[in-house]
Order: sequence, then C-alpha cells, then structure tokens
Amino acid sequence: MPELPEVEVVRRSLAPALTGSRIVGVEVRRPRMIRRQPRARDFADRLNGRIIEGVGRHGKFLLADIEGDLTWVTHLGMSGHLQVAAPGEEEELHTNVVITTDRSQELRFVDPRTFGFMAVLTPEEVAASSLRLLGPDAHTALPRAPRLAESLQHRSAPIKAVLLDQHFVAGLGNIYADEVLFRAGIRPDRPAGSLSGVEVKRLRGAVRPVLESGLRWGGTSLDDLAYLLPDGRAGENLARLKVYGREDEPCRRCGNAIRRSVIRQRSSFWCATCQQ
Ligand SMILES: [Zn+2]
Repeated sequence: MPELPEVEVVRRSLAPALTGSRIVGVEVRRPRMIRRQPRARDFADRLNGRIIEGVGRHGKFLLADIEGDLTWVTHLGMSGHLQVAAPGEEEELHTNVVITTDRSQELRFVDPRTFGFMAVLTPEEVAASSLRLLGPDAHTALPRAPRLAESLQHRSAPIKAVLLDQHFVAGLGNIYADEVLFRAGIRPDRPAGSLSGVEVKRLRGAVRPVLESGLRWGGTSLDDLAYLLPDGRAGENLARLKVYGREDEPCRRCGNAIRRSVIRQRSSFWCATCQQ
C-alpha cells in the first residue's frame, strides 16, 4: 500500500501539472471509486468547471483545494496509482476515473482492486468525515518527544501497531514503520508504554530520515509494481530498505538474519540483535 513517501512523491509530481488548471471533464467508470461521496452526483458536479488551487497531503491522503472551498480527497488504497497522460494516449487496464483539465491533460486513477477512492467534500463534510480523526502528519507535524512519550505511556499495544494507527500519527504503513523501528533500535512487539524517554526520542528521530529516504528515491515500488509514479516510473527505495521484506537475509548492520513476526495480523521484519 502506498504510504506517506509514495503519496508525497505523487503530490510533488502532480502539483505543478494540476495547480491553476481548470477541470473540464469528469468520467467515473467504476462508481465504487466514489463510494465515499455523500451524494454520488456531487462528485462530477463539484469538479466540473472549477480550478484546482493547490495539491496538498495529510498522511496517506491527497487533498487538493478546489475553487469554492471544496476539498478533493484521493486515497490510493492498496493498489491505486495516478497517471498524468494526454487525451488519446493509450490507457492502462483498470483506469477507473478520468479527470480532464483545460491544459489538455488527463489525470487517470488506475486501481485494479478498487480499494482506493475519491471524493469532493465541503468543509462541513470534511469535518464529519474520518479525515477529522487523522493524527498529525508524520512528515510535517510530528509531535515533539515529550508529547509523544505522554501519548504512548498508557498504551499496551505493540509499538508497531501504534505506529500503524493513523489516529496516532498519519502516514506510516507497514514498510516505513518497520524501517523506523529498525533505525530506532526498538523491537516491533514492545508494548508502546514500555518505551523509555530516550527510546521515544530515538523513535521520533528515526521517522524523518526514514521518510526522507523514501522520498529521495521516489518511494518504494514492490515487485508487484502496484505503486508507480505519475509518469509511469517505479520508485527505487526497495533496494535501500534495511529490514522490510528481508526475512532471512543478513542485517545490513550486524549481519544476523532478519526475522519476520506477525504482529496484529501484519508481517513485521526486524533484527533481534539490533532491536531491543
Ligand atoms: Zn542487526
């Protein structure tokens, strides 16, 4: 699933193409893709003829500002990706939504599994949506260590599960949470409340460099290539991951075999020597 770095790479790539353009066409081919729109017909009505004023992000959500105080929400789900193409250019299979702008370009939402979605919401609808429950963005708004420590101290859930909880902090998924814990030297199954102040500080300090690495290399495309950049290239961070997906391979720091454990139904990759 695309995580914060992948969504941010997409945002940075889309922003110059879309910002200031006017939407002149909206085609929803799979109604399921707009299932979160309170009234389905609002989706096209609210986009058509309007200017895209900016393209932002919170956690794994792309949030574009649309003229008239509307927010165009896109979540890529498990396997979705966005493509910018010229009208007439050959389409990929599972091109489920096509938005055309007055710059004679199409934004195509390709999503084979349709776990992703789009919606265009008024401020009131945003306030009533699950977006309201998102925690601070892991890249731009991570709370300082003492505040993080405070919110962790009574939690008995494994720290890995807490990092995945989008209400706690928004943007980390399975890949980057494992990488953050490796960098911080903390076992994924440690109860969150057992972390010392020093460990919380290390944990906080690990988040930005791990996310920055993902960003620098264009995000992590796994072998299934479900995540691609809007220009069709694959992200190149996979080869740079320290633990995720590396079961039985030697730890890049100590050489011992990387382990895989299942924590709350999610695979976690970690090093039993480097993480305590
Ligand atoms: Zn190690």
